[in-house]
Amino acid sequence: MFQNQGQGGQQTSLERRYGFFRCLSCKGEWQSSHVYCIKGTTTVYYKQDCKNCKTACNPYKVEDVKCPMCGKPAKECQGMCDHPDDD
Ligand SMILES: [Zn+2]
Ligand SMILES: [Zn+2]
Repeated sequence: MFQNQGQGGQQTSLERRYGFFRCLSCKGEWQSSHVYCIKGTTTVYYKQDCKNCKTACNPYKVEDVKCPMCGKPAKECQGMCDHPDDD
């Protein structure tokens, strides 16, 4: 006998987001494009450690990851704009 993980074999799927962090202990701030949220939510799955004092922090704000080149959401662009068409 084995147990299924939820109904229909659902797994927790994660989405990468851009997060803004503020450490409550040392007031340090940082940003990261490697924030993983549960898909379709802004629930952060992994905390990040403060670089100064190693306190595990959740971001106070998360945004969709944007392509640095075209500014579109990265999941739409998927790096496609990285191929300039030079007529
Ligand atoms: Zn800190
Ligand atoms: Zn792009």
